[in-house]
Amino acid sequence: MKKLLIIGNWKLNNNKKIILDFCKKLNSYLSTINYDHHLKISIAPPILHLETFNLILQQLHNNHISLTAQNIDVNILGSFTGETSISMLQEIENIKYVIVGHSERRIHHNETKELIAKKFKLVKSFKLIPILCIGETKEEKNANKAQKICKEQIDTIIQLVGYQAFDKAIIAYEPIWAIGSNQSASTNYIQYMHQFIRHYISRYDINISKKLIIQYGGSVNKKNALEILSVKDVNGVLIGNSSLDCDQFIDIIKCTK
Ligand code: PEP
Repeated sequence: MKKLLIIGNWKLNNNKKIILDFCKKLNSYLSTINYDHHLKISIAPPILHLETFNLILQQLHNNHISLTAQNIDVNILGSFTGETSISMLQEIENIKYVIVGHSERRIHHNETKELIAKKFKLVKSFKLIPILCIGETKEEKNANKAQKICKEQIDTIIQLVGYQAFDKAIIAYEPIWAIGSNQSASTNYIQYMHQFIRHYISRYDINISKKLIIQYGGSVNKKNALEILSVKDVNGVLIGNSSLDCDQFIDIIKCTK
């Protein structure tokens, strides 16, 4: 059975009250199913809410749900007003993953490939798992440059971290044109891109490529989750909008059965 990692990225949404209800509902659902180790569930709330989320999970004696940070600063400490560091996040018990290079950070916060590579390296050095988001714009897709763009995004990481960069790391393939559009990529296209990514990593290390978790992200919802999760080289999904409501999120988890 292939391993599946389902992550809800809440971005700048939801509040403390919702977290409590969400955790209770999700936790009680997960405790009713025969939860096995091929399935991992994580939520990326806004950074401010990670601690609250963690406390609630502890109170619920949860051991099914982990936490993901949406971003970190590239500095560990110092005069960087408004930032959050990896060492601060590491103190929160249930945090396991850190998203780096989400297209919204690349676009709205001008994050370069080089900065993203530094963040990726930092996350690994703190023994958390980086989730590298890669993907092309509509224009790049139409110009047949999707693979070239993803290759460049991966190359910058390998140049800084070395050929073993993707050992204990995750790639989320998220075509920018599919994010928040209500129109996911087709399953054929998803397999075409995921196969390319896995094959590209195998040129550096075949064992790492075989174990690599490659998530798909971009308008995943309860209607398309089953077919997307069934795609050969898909090992999970990174979900934005459809993860905000617990019932919808649970419906997507049901598709992993
Ligand atoms: C995302 O932003 O990572 C994402 C996949 O969003 P959505 O599911 O809303 O397309």
